[in-house]
Amino acid sequence: MRRKLVAGNWKMHGGLAANRELLGGLLNQQATVGSAACAVLVPFPYLAQVSSALAGSRISWGAQDVSEHVSGAFTGEVAAPMLADFGCTLVIVGHSERRALHSEDSRTVGKKALSALRSGLTPIICVGESLAEREAGVTREIVGQQIAEAISVCGAGGISASIIAYEPVWAIGTGKTASPEQAQEVHEFLRGILMSASVEAGQVPILYGGSVKAANAAALFAMPDVDGGLVGGASLLVSEFMDIWRAASAARY
Ligand code: PEP
Repeated sequence: MRRKLVAGNWKMHGGLAANRELLGGLLNQQATVGSAACAVLVPFPYLAQVSSALAGSRISWGAQDVSEHVSGAFTGEVAAPMLADFGCTLVIVGHSERRALHSEDSRTVGKKALSALRSGLTPIICVGESLAEREAGVTREIVGQQIAEAISVCGAGGISASIIAYEPVWAIGTGKTASPEQAQEVHEFLRGILMSASVEAGQVPILYGGSVKAANAAALFAMPDVDGGLVGGASLLVSEFMDIWRAASAARY
């Protein structure tokens, strides 16, 4: 049985005081939750704050993006060795908002994941189809191509040290969640592709993301190939996020 993980993507939200309150709420209750792992992925300026606030806790932390380059004339970019420098362990790559708003293609996403891996970070590689693609019946082609590109750039060894997040674009921030069966179907498909890369790659956690809330988390996490959640909006609310973490800990699979 793979250990479940809930990871909160704060997106571009937060502030020193608001973060202190949110982190304090999570820290106060962490001892009441079972064995699932928990992480927060925060905007770059707050990495130092979470590093210090979460030191010695059960909650891991990381960033929401990383450059594919290691150093150089890339104004505004942040390199993986810089994140690793002060203890960052996780980074999201290929979130649909970056693919859509910053024209990141799957090759670039793969290179970002590889750069993270080379610095000892665990990339959370996001894949997912748009509403038009789902309605056109090409979900498998789209997520299959996205994951294949990541495997081709990072190799089976790199992928086996990564985390995958299936995030249907139509479910992110919309309040529309994939049904547990829809999520399971895609997760199982992705697992098959990962398995054909290597046995170890087939065992990586595959998180579901897209309007996960306390009310739907248990049903999603009960699916055999759903290893937890990448949670956006609900990760900013202590009680919602704690209930999602609890649901992951209580899940049978
Ligand atoms: C996300 O930002 O990765 C996400 C899944 O957002 P939300 O939970 O708000 O849909």
